[in-house]
Amino acid sequence: MKVLIADDENISRRKLEKFLGDLDYRVISCKGGLEAWDVIQSENAPSLLILDWMMPGLDGMEICRRVRELAREPYTYILLLTSKGEQEDIIKGMEAGADDYITKPFNQNELRVRLAAGRRIVELNEDLLSMRNNLARQAIYDELTGIYNRHFMVETLEEEFSRALRYQTELSCILLDLDCFKEINDTFGHAFGDLVLREFSACLKQEARKTDIPFRYGGEEFMLLLPNTDVGGALNVAEKIRSACETKKYDDGNNVTTVTVSLGIASVKHHQLVDGKELMAFADKALYRAKTEGRNRVEVYMKERYEQFKDGEFSDDKDFKYLKENLSLVLEKTKRASIESLKLLTRDMVDDEHKQHNHYVKQYINLIGEKLALPPSIIETFKRAATLHDNFKVLLRRNLKNKNKVLNTEEKIEIEDHPYMLSELIGLFDFFSNEKSILLYHHENFDGTGYPGELKENEIPLGARIFAIADAIAAMLTERSYRKKLSPEKIIEELADNAGKQFDPRLVSLFFDMIEKQKMLPVPVEVLTKAKERLREVRRKGNC
Ligand code: GH3
Ligand code: MG
Ligand code: MG
Repeated sequence: MKVLIADDENISRRKLEKFLGDLDYRVISCKGGLEAWDVIQSENAPSLLILDWMMPGLDGMEICRRVRELAREPYTYILLLTSKGEQEDIIKGMEAGADDYITKPFNQNELRVRLAAGRRIVELNEDLLSMRNNLARQAIYDELTGIYNRHFMVETLEEEFSRALRYQTELSCILLDLDCFKEINDTFGHAFGDLVLREFSACLKQEARKTDIPFRYGGEEFMLLLPNTDVGGALNVAEKIRSACETKKYDDGNNVTTVTVSLGIASVKHHQLVDGKELMAFADKALYRAKTEGRNRVEVYMKERYEQFKDGEFSDDKDFKYLKENLSLVLEKTKRASIESLKLLTRDMVDDEHKQHNHYVKQYINLIGEKLALPPSIIETFKRAATLHDNFKVLLRRNLKNKNKVLNTEEKIEIEDHPYMLSELIGLFDFFSNEKSILLYHHENFDGTGYPGELKENEIPLGARIFAIADAIAAMLTERSYRKKLSPEKIIEELADNAGKQFDPRLVSLFFDMIEKQKMLPVPVEVLTKAKERLREVRRKGNC
């Protein structure tokens, strides 16, 4: 530890220098008060001072006063060296800010232990300070990446929003989410994922401008706040980050890969936002759009199409296309969930090599697909096919082993990677293909007068015929805007009238039997008997 001594008496000062040097203190020796004061004000001033009471220029007591005024951290411990042993002087010295005193000529052992006590106090104070600094750091910085954390983001967001309103300046927010990051963890392990997060954060800081503020607010989710920046400016910054990220290689010595990022932008003035939360929520919607439109892209918040088309305005082809896109998103999620479940099935059967193989295949598909400017949804389909192929293969191989059958290489390859087997397995995931024909043909009539195919009788899929009658009965049982609900008698009459025309008479007949046996509708017996009679007539004529 460094110690400063200030004493104008040469002999006593040299004695002190030697004594402290022998105790392993690093001694800074000053011949007077003024010289000492210069050192004390310098950047790396010692925290232990031994000051002579009487000195020309500045005396020990005055230095004490000045040091306490400076209120430096860590604490400066002062030991006054005095030839005066008077009680009154000691009180004065300690009131001026000295911590302890020792009388000249000093007793070496006494000085040693008193200095050690001072040293303990300085060290305690240093510990306390570093603890305080650590806590302050933890409160605002993210431990893994070293950039600001979520807690600090919430505070800063509202502060910057208020500032933008007060000074009528623009404020933009970019939300960033790493693409398919779960896969990076799954493929290369969590430690590699952490490396990506750290290096991505460093890249984000580097690509952003000095005035932009970066935060990590979730696992692989980041925010960049851009004060005094409009949408155009934010777009430039976002695009710069996106393209830097696209080519950046993450390398831990064993594995090398790239990771793309999707970005969403919203701006306070441009989007007329009311608070920080809304700024983030709108940027999040833009980010969602970037994800659904293929990832690795920047999107600015746009008003939802549905908000623009209020009250029946929404009816043309474009809106149908938009509806289709939205429903496709539901399917996208289902597909993703199915693939995740499939991966869980094979989790314990695959090794790192398998995971990495799949990862690289997808990376190459991506590269080729983008080069060919294929739509993102098509590229996604190709990538899903690769994952399905790899996982089915694992399952097929497992199946093979279970049978304990010895096969030659050719047989093995054929069974493990048989296209027909793979296609049969994928058929299991084609969950709505059968339902399709029902939806397509549910407006066909039994007599061939319906649409779209003008199919008749057995040409109409059974499911479509059953759906048509069930749908019609349910509709008759409830009140509609254009008519009252029908009475049970009327429903029976309606079905009998339309059997053979709109409905399959065998199904109507089946329904009548059910009514009779299970008392499904409260219909008088004579009504049902009459209706059945008519139905028999229809079936006889139609020969069905
Ligand atoms: P998308 O492109 O749609 O954003 O897909 P994604 O896989 O990135 O998104 P998802 O939200 O499904 O997965 C995020 C992953 O981030 C899951 C989680 O294990 C991982 N993650 C979150 N925090 C950390 C972390 O501190 N370290 C590591 N290594 N991984 C993390
Ligand atoms: Mg995420
Ligand atoms: Mg992500």
